Amino acid sequence: MSFFKRWSGSRIAPAVRLELRRSQYRAFLQQVPLLYAVLIVNTVTVAITHFGVAPVYLSVYAPALLCLFCIGRVAVWLHSRRRMLSDEALARRLRTMVWMIAGIGTAFVAWALSLYPYGDAYARSHVAFYMAMTVIGCIFCLMHMRFAALLLTTIVIVPFALFFASTHNPVLVAIAVNVLLVAVVMVLILLIYYRDFRNLVESQIQLRAKHAETQRLSDDNFRLANLDALTGLPNRRRFFADLDQHLVPLQGQARAPGSLAIGVVDLDGFKRINDLYGHAFGDRVLIETGRRFAAQVTPQLSVARIGGDEFGLIVVGATAYRQLLDLGDRLCGAIERPYALPEGSARLSTSIGFANFPEAGETTTQLVERAYYALHFAQSHRRGGTVIFSPEHETQIRHLSRIEECLRRADYEREISLHFQPIYDTALREIMAFEALARWTSPELGVVAPSVFVPVAERCDLIHALTEVLLRKALDAARNWPEVVRISFNLSARDLTSPGALDRVIRTTLASSVAPHRIDFEITETALIQDFGQARTALDALKKLGARISLDDFGTGFSSLNSVHRLPIDKVKVDGSFIAGIDREPTARAIVKSIVELCQNLGMTCVIEGVETRAQADALRELGATVMQGHLFGKPVAANQVFDTYVREPMRRVSRTSSSR
Ligand code: C2E
Ligand code: CA
Ligand code: CA
Repeated sequence: MSFFKRWSGSRIAPAVRLELRRSQYRAFLQQVPLLYAVLIVNTVTVAITHFGVAPVYLSVYAPALLCLFCIGRVAVWLHSRRRMLSDEALARRLRTMVWMIAGIGTAFVAWALSLYPYGDAYARSHVAFYMAMTVIGCIFCLMHMRFAALLLTTIVIVPFALFFASTHNPVLVAIAVNVLLVAVVMVLILLIYYRDFRNLVESQIQLRAKHAETQRLSDDNFRLANLDALTGLPNRRRFFADLDQHLVPLQGQARAPGSLAIGVVDLDGFKRINDLYGHAFGDRVLIETGRRFAAQVTPQLSVARIGGDEFGLIVVGATAYRQLLDLGDRLCGAIERPYALPEGSARLSTSIGFANFPEAGETTTQLVERAYYALHFAQSHRRGGTVIFSPEHETQIRHLSRIEECLRRADYEREISLHFQPIYDTALREIMAFEALARWTSPELGVVAPSVFVPVAERCDLIHALTEVLLRKALDAARNWPEVVRISFNLSARDLTSPGALDRVIRTTLASSVAPHRIDFEITETALIQDFGQARTALDALKKLGARISLDDFGTGFSSLNSVHRLPIDKVKVDGSFIAGIDREPTARAIVKSIVELCQNLGMTCVIEGVETRAQADALRELGATVMQGHLFGKPVAANQVFDTYVREPMRRVSRTSSSR
């Protein structure tokens, strides 16, 4: 058995052995018809020369039987040559073939030698010739099956040589010696050929393995270059590549609505988490967010991380308005679930903007821009949630770009002015400050609201120049007011995060004759969210001047007690949106009450904005609020009317309000 193993190639590596067997089998299958053709043709000629000389069973029946067997084998070959075999079946088939060849060899040798006694010298030489030539032909056909070839050579040549050597006929002995020598040479050639064949198979296997390894490395490389290392989601590069891939086939078609939408997701308040709890914690939150997004992925939805806290969505198929809103709700729901991490817990809110192909745009750039527009719309108007880019947004974009155009050309000195609105202390019954509110009258557009042009100025970097002009005008107006009346001035978040802009604010303040300690700078929490560290530095610089800081629009975003008491804030301005239903809604009342109490605890002034009715003012007083601002106490008026409206006749209407209590 060990001999068999050795010569059937059992010593070699299993993978090579398997491949070698397959190659052997393939090569042998091609030779099968030739092998049997040689056997049949040679056998028939020998049978013919012995017909009538040898007995019928030897000259007719036996060769006919042998030839029929060979034809049968060819038929089996025809039937099964294309069949795919398992590794085990192949090994079995090869083993059977080896023993079959041994059997056939033995049968033919026995038949040929049994003819020998019947013929004359020619016929005997024919038998010797037949055996020698046939075995050489067969060895050639078995070149790829070393063991079978050697076995056959032994089975035929050994009896052949012994038999003819024992005849003592010099010619036949010479033939035996000749054939033996040829057989030895044949065996040597066979061994060399077989070694080369095995080497070839081995090198093919190595080549294939190398190719597979190269392919794997290049696949890995491709995968890593397209993955976000932190979350494991596809990255920005992959997002845009995928988007292009989806878009290209659609662009060729005559408008195919409802087939593709893209979305951008922003984690509102993530930057604040990062600032407050550190980047390691922020990373953990992002990893968990990535996991939650990945759990939402379907064949119709893919999610990629395209920025620090921004994710991109590609939606295929289900892109109807309702379906996108539902998808948005589902994603927001998943992301907004509390994050319970070993280091602490956190909450995020999510805004999503969608843009539909082809309604919102037909190119990658257009779709992405529009999705961002919808996202910003969600963030600024809805405070989170999902917004889908619509034709109204399109109109708005055009309108805003017209505003931008005019704002770039505007002469701030002439076109932009300030109105002032009193901030009233209902306990002391006096105006404690005026808030400066910007007004723009454009020669082309007419009056443009600050809620419209301030964000435009922020976006196109005009805000710093605008702030400088406005601050100068505000301080100019405040010069004439009584010393005790403060001026409250709105700073943009961008003014705080740009050191150059902050310097301009400080320089303008120092250049004015209004003492800095009379100034309240109002800032919104957007500035704090964007860059907590820098905002803190800026606020410290303003405080060093002697000015005070008010946190504007409190309650509308993500301000928490935490950020308030870690910053040098003197006043909190509660957003008007809580006040509308304050006299009726217990929830609004509870929120305002908690803010008022928080301010009392922290020693801050609490200013309530947007107070319009006496009922509201009364309800607020009951909650402990004293400082208020709103139409009830006075609308914003132009600088030249402040004196007449509020200083010369101080608060007639207002006094009536507070005295009514
Ligand atoms: P804000 O800082 O919250 O200003 C208060 C807004 O509420 C003002 O709108 C004011 O006119 C309005 N308001 C006051 N009392 C009432 C009331 O009783 N009812 C209602 N419904 N509204 C009331 P305005 O002047 O249109 O300003 C809008 C926003 O534009 C401001 O909100 C502020 O964020 C921004 N803004 C205005 N002026 C400036 C400025 O000089 N610089 C900067 N950066 N932003 C400014
Ligand atoms: Ca304000
Ligand atoms: Ca406000």
